[in-house]
Amino acid sequence: MRLKGLGVSSGVGIGRALVLKRSTRELRFRVPAALVARELERLEEARARSREQIQHIKNRMTDSVGADHAYLFDAQLLMLDDPMLIERTAQIVRGERLNAESALQRSLQQISALFDRGEDPYLRERKGDVADIVGRLCMNLRATGDPTDLFKGLEGPLVLVADEITPSVIAQLDWSKLAALVTDAGSWTYHTAILARSLRIPAVAGLHNASSVIPPGTNLAVDGSTGEVITDPDEQALQQVAARRRRRAAYELSLDEFRPLPAVTVDGVAIRLEANIETPEDASRAGERGAEGIGLFRSEFLLAGGGQSALAEEAQFVAYRRLLEGAAGRRVTVRTFDVSEPQLPIEHAGVEGTRAPLGLRGIRLSLALDEIFQAQLRALLRAAAHGPLRVMFPFVSGLDELRAARSAVARAAETLRARGHSVPDIPIGVMIEVPSAALTADLLAREADFFSIGTNDLIQYCLAVDRNDDQVSRLYEPLHPAILRTIRMVVRAARRRRIAVAVCGEMAADPVLLTLLIGLGLTEFSMAPTAIGVAKQVLRGVRVSDARRMAGRALLARTPAEVEHALADFLGAAAAGDADRTTPHTANETRRT
Ligand code: PEP
Ligand code: MG
Repeated sequence: MRLKGLGVSSGVGIGRALVLKRSTRELRFRVPAALVARELERLEEARARSREQIQHIKNRMTDSVGADHAYLFDAQLLMLDDPMLIERTAQIVRGERLNAESALQRSLQQISALFDRGEDPYLRERKGDVADIVGRLCMNLRATGDPTDLFKGLEGPLVLVADEITPSVIAQLDWSKLAALVTDAGSWTYHTAILARSLRIPAVAGLHNASSVIPPGTNLAVDGSTGEVITDPDEQALQQVAARRRRRAAYELSLDEFRPLPAVTVDGVAIRLEANIETPEDASRAGERGAEGIGLFRSEFLLAGGGQSALAEEAQFVAYRRLLEGAAGRRVTVRTFDVSEPQLPIEHAGVEGTRAPLGLRGIRLSLALDEIFQAQLRALLRAAAHGPLRVMFPFVSGLDELRAARSAVARAAETLRARGHSVPDIPIGVMIEVPSAALTADLLAREADFFSIGTNDLIQYCLAVDRNDDQVSRLYEPLHPAILRTIRMVVRAARRRRIAVAVCGEMAADPVLLTLLIGLGLTEFSMAPTAIGVAKQVLRGVRVSDARRMAGRALLARTPAEVEHALADFLGAAAAGDADRTTPHTANETRRT
């Protein structure tokens, strides 16, 4: 079987499928023969824990509302001893070598089908009880709920096949075992895809139903450039994949020569190329890849798996200092936490949430949780003594938020001064990623020290297209006239006030779009470190005057397709995507064909 999705992180990976269904909280994998006994033990332990819990619930119900309702839980206790459930599940584990969670789901399906066939409406209703008990057993099978456990006992190379998966889970995995990542959801700017690119893990997104159709344990060959996923590849397919891998490696190698070169256009305009990174350790690697600084440090990644202590001022100070030291004197721009509440490691937060797209997130959340925000700002201001630091705020929607955030910085500085620290003045910037911020860029430019245009969010909110939803991802058009006009407007507003403006969204990592952005007046970019070599190669072959003319024509176009034609005409053959060079632009093209 060959599946075709969006290649979102180039490279080729081969390994066995491990299937993770977040929607049903289900994990499916094949258990190595030597670990079958351990799997059965896990099942038994989960049964014992479930029994204890249900007994406890039953006693509590009896004490509070009387024995009348307790019979419900007697039925559940009986199910825990029913051979149809546990023994059948154990048989599946032994016979098919499926993991216990997956085997339980299989038993549940079989029991449900049996109940459905019966005439008795009472029995049909019992299906809910069985699902309830299976849910409890699965919950108890996940001993810690810790994503680092996901690969425990399994040998790599593995291909993680998920319906969707958050970047924080990826951040915690044992990457040495992960050959590739395949998801039903997502697009080029899916956060998980961005992280996969940073980690250089080949990834394919937007496959719609891969997690349903790929059985666990299947051998998979994943091409993160073309978006192809081949199940049980034969010798010929493996050879093709190996050839692509070699081509890819040669292409990467050819980029090495550009990494140390200055980022200057043919007509002598200096372009600043910085890196988007997620961990302090990435800073020095970004320097090796030719980045002039760190244009976006996604600070929320410090929270992945760290528990509540990750929010402490001291822990953050140490991380930011490490980041600045890793950057070795190059400029570092830290974005304050861009999360929503369930993603914070605080008590009332959910276990694993996604960033509520239009909810209490980013600067809104920071302003609502003053203590947490103050701790982050103090840590940043203290770290600023160790290198050139800038701070920017995510998801700002207007001037009030910028003012409130600035006054929070002033309060944090006062607290530190009262403690005897000397606090440097640092540039404070705004991410322009909410349309209302773009529309009021002229007002924001009066009170911000710099802008960084977050095209990933800006595009999705301008066009009302969820960047993670594979059903509409083809409508996610960086070349929409609305996007070009918006960017031009923001650049003009910044220029008028003489403040710096950069693009830190994924648009900058696409060679064609990079040229267009230069034509729109931008000279600062931040992108995944892996994209810097290509970007230098491209811009060292571009004249700003040509790029301007190209942008001028693009701005006259009326539809994304017309914009694309204008660019293609201008760039000629150079605009055609290189199969080995995965970019959002080419990803969209793949989508259209
Ligand atoms: C953006 O929105 O363009 C951006 C750079 O931030 P993120 O992708 O983390 O939302
Ligand atoms: Mg954003």
